[in-house]
Amino acid sequence: MAAQELKMFINGEWTGALSGETREILNPANGEVIAVSAEGAEQDANRAVAAAKSAFYEGGWWGTPASERARLLFKAADLLEERKEEFAKLETLNNGKPLREAEFDVNDSIACFRYYAGLATKPHGQTYEVSDPMQAVVIREPIGVCGQIIPWNYPLLMAAWKLAPALAAGNTVVFKPAEITPLSAVKLFGIFEQAGFPSGVVNLVLGAGPSVGQTLAAHDDVDKIAFTGGTATGRKIMLAATGNLKKISLELGGKNPNIVFADADFEAAVEYALFAIFANSGQVCAAGSRLLLEESIYDRFIERLVQRTKAIKVGDGMAEGTEMGPLVSEAHLDKVLSYVEIGKAEGATLLCGGNRLIGGAYEGGYYMEPTIFTDASSDMRIVREEIFGPVLVVQTFKDEEEAVSMANDTIYGLAGAVFTSNGAKAQRVIRKLRAGITWINTYHPTYNEAPWGGYKQSGIGRELGTFGFEEYTEVKQINTNLQVEPIGWYGS
Ligand code: NDP
Repeated sequence: MAAQELKMFINGEWTGALSGETREILNPANGEVIAVSAEGAEQDANRAVAAAKSAFYEGGWWGTPASERARLLFKAADLLEERKEEFAKLETLNNGKPLREAEFDVNDSIACFRYYAGLATKPHGQTYEVSDPMQAVVIREPIGVCGQIIPWNYPLLMAAWKLAPALAAGNTVVFKPAEITPLSAVKLFGIFEQAGFPSGVVNLVLGAGPSVGQTLAAHDDVDKIAFTGGTATGRKIMLAATGNLKKISLELGGKNPNIVFADADFEAAVEYALFAIFANSGQVCAAGSRLLLEESIYDRFIERLVQRTKAIKVGDGMAEGTEMGPLVSEAHLDKVLSYVEIGKAEGATLLCGGNRLIGGAYEGGYYMEPTIFTDASSDMRIVREEIFGPVLVVQTFKDEEEAVSMANDTIYGLAGAVFTSNGAKAQRVIRKLRAGITWINTYHPTYNEAPWGGYKQSGIGRELGTFGFEEYTEVKQINTNLQVEPIGWYGS
């Protein structure tokens, strides 16, 4: 396939980087070049911010009626739906995930645009009772120019989660996808252009985090920065944002506990334990990467888990029947494999997997076996650090109290799940989990209607739902005097 040329979208025009630099984009399934992308830098981010600022103020986007913003977002959703097969294939081509997962992401993205298109026109303010003759109301207004930075694990879906609420709330945006996965974002901005968003309202800058991303995070004319990615990068963004005290929202990492009690539905718990860690090759912030098993079912559970893990079909995401794709890049694969060595050196038992898959259909790709460690103790790095790959670490607990204590023994607080047939126990445990996204007898479902985000070092703020919309608004109180006359406070 001929490599496509990918450009940035700034102030309503497709453009290369001012420096003329480009970057090769690779297919993780075979390492082949699939596109050549403009490699923007600080000066490109600056011109996109200037365009977004001008569109917000002089261009009048700020005053655009909610109904018009809703119309444009509904139109974008319709256009995306018309081309959903193409988008799913692009996502698999660039990220490596199995096509069935990519199709799910595209449908979820369409629904996200529709959800926020609908929300734009719904009531958002408040009135509050004060004594006569005053009338008091609260309104929500857009923040202004929003910088948005996303990672490579869900290139289209993360774009939808960021762009839809920001635009619905009336902001202008400068958006940066991960440098290695720009394909679907470029097509999405083509859809925005076709839908008719005014020039400068939506801007796409391609390039690396330390240049383009850092510029957006530090820029004085960016009023809000929204970021999804690793916790270490989140810290850098937070620091950079202090210059103009811009608003921030951060969706960061996790080391999420999946607690299985002996009374859980056995086969369902096994299947969800697999899905929790191996979906998207474990490259999921909410992945169930720590499996906590009640001691009494350990042997039976592990036997079945290993048997089913070994049967997972790893391969090219485009191939029929593939259940787990490659990792996103060679650098990331190396990082995940290094954790296998760390786990072995720490004394954990490698029960299955742990190797790069090479040769034959795997040639040139970044494939890895689904991997399980047991005999892991809470002080090990493989238990404490986010590996972000198909590596499950299993520990055991004696009782409910120990399960909760182990689950919460982490700097993170993004997600967690409990499997049990005892409803009261499920509620007790879930309420004690220090995490923002929780599940009972399931793992991973996400809804556009519900807030997504974490406690502790998993982030700041929430995406999705009304919470996610509010993150893109300022709050203004308006107090109106209904009886305008001197108040006689000072003598004449
Ligand atoms: P990063 O968090 O570094 O990347 C996420 C996004 O941030 C990318 O667009 C990246 O740009 C950008 N970025 C990088 N550095 C800066 C910076 N200084 N200022 C502004 N933006 C920046 O993830 P990595 O790809 O480096 O992965 C590292 C680890 O982070 C993973 O192994 C995993 O543990 C975790 N991670 C967590 C994710 C999550 O959803 N919670 C998602 C991805 C990673 P670019 O890539 O273009 O350089």
